[in-house]
Amino acid sequence: MTDLIQSNFHKVQQNIETSALMAHREPGEITLLAVSKNFAASEVLKIAELGHKEFAENYVQEGVEKVSLIKSTHPQFNLIWHFIGPLQSNKTKLVAEHFDWVLTIDRLKIAQRLNEQRPKHLSPLQVCIQVNIDGGPTKSGLDPTHVLGLAKEIGQMSSLELRGLMTIPDPQPNWDDQVGVHLKTKQLFESIKSELNSDRFDTLSMGMSADLSAAISSGSTMVRVGTAIFGERKK
Ligand SMILES: *Cc1c(COP(=O)(O)O)cnc(C)c1O
Repeated sequence: MTDLIQSNFHKVQQNIETSALMAHREPGEITLLAVSKNFAASEVLKIAELGHKEFAENYVQEGVEKVSLIKSTHPQFNLIWHFIGPLQSNKTKLVAEHFDWVLTIDRLKIAQRLNEQRPKHLSPLQVCIQVNIDGGPTKSGLDPTHVLGLAKEIGQMSSLELRGLMTIPDPQPNWDDQVGVHLKTKQLFESIKSELNSDRFDTLSMGMSADLSAAISSGSTMVRVGTAIFGERKK
């Protein structure tokens, strides 16, 4: 019998495939991050057993516990863990030690600390700059005009590898508004990529359960899906 979470996961994969084909893109260009915040390691394992590798967590303590537990009980899975939550400077060390990617760098100090704290025996931490594409002053993410400057600074850091941009726009109810804001991020991504002239700057992380299709149509290479796989989160 198929588990509900496993069948949800297959539906999300199909949705990605359909959305990619509608946008005349290869489905293989789009990475699915299974966002497991608020869900137990046992739920993560249901997806990992299907062969999926890429997972994401929002909260440092919860994430580090889950990552460590699964690494010790199921080392054969070799999961790849992305940190996608707000990151305060007193928590950077744990993230540098336990995660493979950090998608939410929005200031130099956080990048510097992660670079210093990344253990030397591990490969460089893969990072994205989080952009505040639709503008509220209280939102997390860097103002688009400051992204290139930070990207160049990160380019000098030997324990970080800059892979792209990430954004969490305000929810928009309709397709045109979703595409409108995602295309703004895509444009910024292309302009930064041409300035940096780096093949490794290849990741544009946008799109969640509610706007996945519009994000893929606008050029997303990495969607982050929680609810549509694991179900509603308990508050
Ligand atoms: C929670 C979260 C997601 C997943 O959101 P869903 O709507 O549950 O798919 C994606 N990205 C970030 C940054 C999140 O915090």
